[in-house]
Amino acid sequence: MTTASRPNQDVIRPDKDSALLAEENPFEAMMSRFDYAAQRLSLDPGLYKVLRAPEKQIIVSVPIVRDNGDVDVYTGYRVLYNTSRGPAKGGIRFDTAVTLDEVTALAAWMTWKCAVVNIPFGGAKGGVACDPFQLSNLELERITRRYTSAIIETLGPDSDVPAPDVNTNERVMAWIMDTYSMHKRHTVTAVVTGKPVEMGGSLGRREATGRGCMLVTREALKRLRMPVEGTRVAIQGFGNVGSVAAQLMENLGMRVVAVSDKSGGIYNPEGLRIRDILQHCRQRRFLSDYKDADHITNAELITLDCDVLVPAAMENVITSHNAKEIKARIICEGANGPTTANADKILEANGVFVIPDILANAGGVTVSYFEWVQDRAGYFWDEDTVNQRLERIMVEAFEEVASMAGRHGINLRIGAYMLAIERVAAVHRLRGMYA
Ligand code: NAD
Repeated sequence: MTTASRPNQDVIRPDKDSALLAEENPFEAMMSRFDYAAQRLSLDPGLYKVLRAPEKQIIVSVPIVRDNGDVDVYTGYRVLYNTSRGPAKGGIRFDTAVTLDEVTALAAWMTWKCAVVNIPFGGAKGGVACDPFQLSNLELERITRRYTSAIIETLGPDSDVPAPDVNTNERVMAWIMDTYSMHKRHTVTAVVTGKPVEMGGSLGRREATGRGCMLVTREALKRLRMPVEGTRVAIQGFGNVGSVAAQLMENLGMRVVAVSDKSGGIYNPEGLRIRDILQHCRQRRFLSDYKDADHITNAELITLDCDVLVPAAMENVITSHNAKEIKARIICEGANGPTTANADKILEANGVFVIPDILANAGGVTVSYFEWVQDRAGYFWDEDTVNQRLERIMVEAFEEVASMAGRHGINLRIGAYMLAIERVAAVHRLRGMYA
């Protein structure tokens, strides 16, 4: 997320009238994989029921006075899906499309993601159904503070720790932290992560998700006995995740042949110069204006002749319609939910090695955990320490997911779900059922 005071404007949603609606439903997509993984684990039927149900769903009214004096009332949500392993962790989004169902699915997703990288958090998600682009900064601040106070009973470093998500950023986290601290009558930095570094944020947090993508891609290449040097990479999305992954992969010796943003993509089979492109984008320009490369569409990028494809923009970009055209040997899911369940089957049949989102993009939540640890200790680490600890966790998680997949003869996605479900289930068994 950027530090700009306006939220990020790059969010484009797929056309919800399309015939892919059922295939794209995030809750269905997640639950179909959960069900399959639970069945492979022979999960006890009682625990299955417990893990399929969200722990707590909160719906609140968020009334604010608009700048013109009118009163408007928005609806806010916070869902704690499962907190057996620790405080609930998950972002808050401001978007017109926010619904209880969507937030619940994303909260479940966070539960599995935290368990895959074995950090002591449960999963949560929240949001306010509003259009942040129709609101002034002051109105956004009022919504944030009123929403925070409406859900304040759940928030806290030991209970529920929000983070930025779609259309929220460091600025919004600072408002949440301040509102919470005002209620508590003392400063509580560890109540949110993704804060500005000046007020308790962690070094390395901004780069963490892209860095995690680079690390797991490197591990996948090793496992498939493919060389790192010269590996051709195509990356969809050149924002926080995609641009950092591109730079770090280039630093490792890979050849980034294509990148894209919402304006389209650029391609050079000899390799793009990522530093130049970053410079171009820093001047607030889109890739469609970039001169030193061929231009391609986002759809063409997905099926490009390359070794590694990194979807790092949005959900549902790899579907049953284009999966069979994919030429990459490895897909590293930087974005959340870029591949539909139907597409998974096609990719598996074609031998594509998919590093699933709940592993591939878990670098972000891992460094959020580091931020929470540093805030609670009041002792801050240098960036090398953050990066070394992130590398250890990502490499270990990759190994554990791959070994689970190998043992059961399944793909990495189901392996990741099985590892996560097993970890959450194990804690439930140990804790027993409170009655
Ligand atoms: P971002 O807003 O910084 O960047 C998004 C990029 O995608 C931009 O380059 C934008 O132009 C491009 N884009 C938007 N709509 C597009 C479209 N229709 N077609 C092609 N490109 C499009 O976002 P980000 O933080 O990099 O997040 C990207 C994805 O990664 C999201 O799915 C997000 O949920 C996921 N993710 C992010 C983090 C994180 O720490 N930032 C962590 C985990 C997962």
